[in-house]
Amino acid sequence: MHVAGEPSFRESVDLMFNRAVGLMDLSPGLEQKIRVCNSTYTVRFGVRLRGKIFTFTGYRSVHSEHMEPVKGGIRYALSVSQDEVEALAALMTYKCALVETPFGGSKGGLCIDPRAWDEHELEQITRRFAYELIKRDLINPAQNVPAPDMGTGEREMAWIADQYARMNTTDINAKACVTGKPPHAGGIRGRVEATGRGVQYALREFFRHAEDKAKAGLSGDLDGKRVIVQGLGNVGYHAAKFLSEEDGAIITGIIEHDGALVSETGIDVEAVRQWITKTGSVKGYPLATVVEDGASVLEEACDILIPAAMEGVITLANADRIKAPLIIEAANGPITYGADEILRKRGVVIIPDMYANAGGVTVSYFEWVKNLSHIRFGRMQRRAEEARSRALVEELERLSADQGLGWQLMPDFKQKFMQGSDELMLVRSGLDDTMRAAYQAMREVWHSRNDVEDLRVAAYIVSIDRVAKTYRSKGL
Ligand code: GLU
Repeated sequence: MHVAGEPSFRESVDLMFNRAVGLMDLSPGLEQKIRVCNSTYTVRFGVRLRGKIFTFTGYRSVHSEHMEPVKGGIRYALSVSQDEVEALAALMTYKCALVETPFGGSKGGLCIDPRAWDEHELEQITRRFAYELIKRDLINPAQNVPAPDMGTGEREMAWIADQYARMNTTDINAKACVTGKPPHAGGIRGRVEATGRGVQYALREFFRHAEDKAKAGLSGDLDGKRVIVQGLGNVGYHAAKFLSEEDGAIITGIIEHDGALVSETGIDVEAVRQWITKTGSVKGYPLATVVEDGASVLEEACDILIPAAMEGVITLANADRIKAPLIIEAANGPITYGADEILRKRGVVIIPDMYANAGGVTVSYFEWVKNLSHIRFGRMQRRAEEARSRALVEELERLSADQGLGWQLMPDFKQKFMQGSDELMLVRSGLDDTMRAAYQAMREVWHSRNDVEDLRVAAYIVSIDRVAKTYRSKGL
């Protein structure tokens, strides 16, 4: 949705960047070098389907190569454009720097309605698009590593990985050419839900800080907080599910593309997801009130608003009417530059996209490392953990025998204690740790400087500073 008088998505990201740079002391020219998109490749290719040739347009934009490979998803949607992939690629640069995944930023997109094609057709289209990108090293384990985004998932990533392997039969690192693959095809457990998990961990971290909550007029923990989520796709679904099932949050609104559901007593996320899978819509869902004008629910009272659908949904046209005191941007760019200004002036606290949805790329990093190391992820750590626990148990038992204390560990406890962490446990704790550390870095800037008003500008300052440091140390 583009509102007249507002900048484009790309311009909006740049304006936010400029606001941060205005508070920094970068060497002349470096600011522009960091801001611009290095390159955007456009490809138009034909695929013979249903007895005729269909032409598709795709993009892969590389924003910054201060670190390689560059990283970022591939989006399938009719609304994909050069402006959009460039904005998203820029956000990837800042996001990776903020959570310290050692990547530059990139993004790709294909103008397609994935629902208009069957699985076999989508495979042909995806393989053809991947072929074009692989030929130009825009998919490559050392240079450019895509991942899922809106409209794509494990299935598409498996096709891309296979296409790369066919075209590069001697590349021992072929699997690392793309992340978000299914676990049986070289993926990692916990990647599918990683972005939603990251949103949950981000909120948990925010709620650990009384001072930060107070800025939004909130207190206590997530238990009982009223949440409205926009978009029940991969990110929104997992975030809402985890927050309601594990933290006691009450989902009072779910906004989808064809309407919304509201209920003051809470909506069962899993039940709605099943309803949508069965009927293709939220319409007719019996256990909540259906609202025809879905977007109006963004303006309903709640404690936390989670836009998890797409960019540009909170604009100059509705920012004044948003009632949530806290917004967490699970989508990339859901709040336009102008809307951000209005909300900020009204004291609304915004947990910015580049932090809030960084869980995906964080776990992508674990997957990439797993692929490059050619060892089952965590196997070494697990062995080490088990050896250490066994040594501790033995020491405890020896001590008890020596002193005649007669201590004995209960067999169940002993077994659990001596078990190392599996892949999923490692992914979760690594993600939690990353989200905590990145929040601390933003928070430090937010609280320690009088000229830093909000978390978004703090996030930009942290990441731009890190990108600048890399440029300075390696030279241009
Ligand atoms: N598409 C996701 C994002 O916007 C994931 C990117 C990745 O894992 O590389 O962050």
